[in-house]
Amino acid sequence: MRMLLLACQFAIRLASLRAPRALRRPWREEWLTEVGYAYRDLMARGESRRTTAWDLARFSVGAFPDAADLGPLSDFDFRAPLAHPAFPVAAALTLLALLGASTDGLRGCRNAWAGPAGERGEELALVARSSRVMGMEATPSANDYAAWKAVGARIAGFAMEDATLKVTPEFFGVLGATPRTPFAFLGRTIKTVQTLEGPSGRVGVLIRPRTGGRWDRPGRLPTPNGSVAGLHFIGRRMREPLIPPAAGLLLSLAAGLTLAPRRPRAVGYFLVKTALIEGVFAACWAEIACRVPIPPSGGHTAMTGFLLPAALSIGCGAVLWMSLRDHERRCPVCWRRLAKPVRIGSHASTMFESPREEILCLKGHGALVIPERILGGAAPADWIAFDESWQDCFV
Ligand SMILES: [Zn+2]
Repeated sequence: MRMLLLACQFAIRLASLRAPRALRRPWREEWLTEVGYAYRDLMARGESRRTTAWDLARFSVGAFPDAADLGPLSDFDFRAPLAHPAFPVAAALTLLALLGASTDGLRGCRNAWAGPAGERGEELALVARSSRVMGMEATPSANDYAAWKAVGARIAGFAMEDATLKVTPEFFGVLGATPRTPFAFLGRTIKTVQTLEGPSGRVGVLIRPRTGGRWDRPGRLPTPNGSVAGLHFIGRRMREPLIPPAAGLLLSLAAGLTLAPRRPRAVGYFLVKTALIEGVFAACWAEIACRVPIPPSGGHTAMTGFLLPAALSIGCGAVLWMSLRDHERRCPVCWRRLAKPVRIGSHASTMFESPREEILCLKGHGALVIPERILGGAAPADWIAFDESWQDCFV
């Protein structure tokens, strides 16, 4: 039975951790004394083992709600830092730091910006032919390769098969690279390189366009066999994933400026906050897009031509919507999140006391009155600034 008393004392000590720090010690002493009395009383009355165990267990369990009733664990309000205007900024910077640390300092974006290693990317192009399916492009056939080889000043064919890169003898010469593996090319890491005498299977053609001639620009390439092929300059194609997120960021800021309520002091804060959060999203998107392998045709696949742009548009829109909604609920003076919503009025008297919600700035700068949505929409929210005398009512 002595073990049972020790177990009850342990439970009371455990429960005391839930009591506020200032009251913890006296509360624990009182409960430990009481459990001692209860134990001695039960033993003196000669109660059965079972009754004693049951009564003591019930007593110890009661200590937990009693400790919680004494008040919150500490007077620190965990919601206060979330309402602080610096919170979204700090959260965005933390996410950016995490993204940088997990991607080796945005390596995908840096590589894309630098272009193909050791080569002037604007001088090298991949040739594609139209697949006649929804504007998609495919790698050329072996016949096309032979025709283009006849007119190309320097041309290298390669066929990709999983992790193996099969190349014609000119390949490394055209690329200005040394034959060694693993070999990074078009976003893939090639583990084995095999030399081919002629192309086979899926063929990608890498050419160095003639300077001063009609090929000296990206776009369409007329070929001797009468077909027209697409020409994708590698450097340009590698940097392509950096353009949409930059455009998405600027468009979101412009859209945000036109949609945000124009309060002179808060607009600057809105722009900084939105730019940071959209910037983190855009950097994350760019890092993924830069790591998607470029197809040997140099064109776009369903992934790069549709899925990634759709994800960018939806993501930018969602971030802007969240930022605007957050901005709506902030004090225009101290930029804190408004709190303590109060519902006023009723649906029965929409004429004099229309239903609405009021949320307050906890520093006493004012209140936002949001009319409740009734049929036919609602009027815009209204900011009521409090004068100095109200400040005393707030901490
Ligand atoms: Zn305020």
